[in-house]
Amino acid sequence: MSEEKKVNIIVLVPAGRLPLDIMAAAHRLAEQYGLGVYLTTVQNLRLTGVPQEIAPAIKKELASLGATFKGPGKFLLPKVCAGAEQCNLAVIDTVAMNQKILDKFGDLPNVKAKVKMAISGCPISCSNPKITDIGLMATKKGYEVFVGGKGGPSPKIGKRIAKGADEERVLEIIGELVAFHNRKTEKKQRMFTLLEDSEFPFAEV
Ligand code: SF4
Repeated sequence: MSEEKKVNIIVLVPAGRLPLDIMAAAHRLAEQYGLGVYLTTVQNLRLTGVPQEIAPAIKKELASLGATFKGPGKFLLPKVCAGAEQCNLAVIDTVAMNQKILDKFGDLPNVKAKVKMAISGCPISCSNPKITDIGLMATKKGYEVFVGGKGGPSPKIGKRIAKGADEERVLEIIGELVAFHNRKTEKKQRMFTLLEDSEFPFAEV
């Protein structure tokens, strides 16, 4: 007899804030079907060990509460620090900035992988914007934007391409970077591989 195939369901959690009704439903479904729950390092909620044949029903139930899921071609969800809502060092409301980014780019179709983004509300950088593909770090003098950072076995600090930027400029920069990455990428690649491209649209500042 073949073994039952298990899959994971990744629920996107914008800004790392999980609505209580989705949390309650995930809890109940995990109990009902014996699933695991993993809160990922990029602030998603992963239901693990889901029998493949019930995955569509579980997704449907969560989707009815407004949940969305990780999938190919979707705009990346930024990793977001606590921000002004909870941290007295913050100089911006990171949740509000995250929402502005999602409002502008969240419905973009066919976004190529593997670009990650991070937003930090001050230079302490709890969400690691300097080692992320696109990193936004708020300062008292405006945003600094870093590109091409990464972790892993060969970590790299991103190149700073803007400082003193306001929100409008940051949104323009994100749009340009995502469009450039999409244009230059066949299937997937990290941003750092594009920094030396002769058409890369930003200089280091
Ligand atoms: S990056 Fe700054 S604002 Fe954000 S949680 Fe850390 S200390 Fe607070």
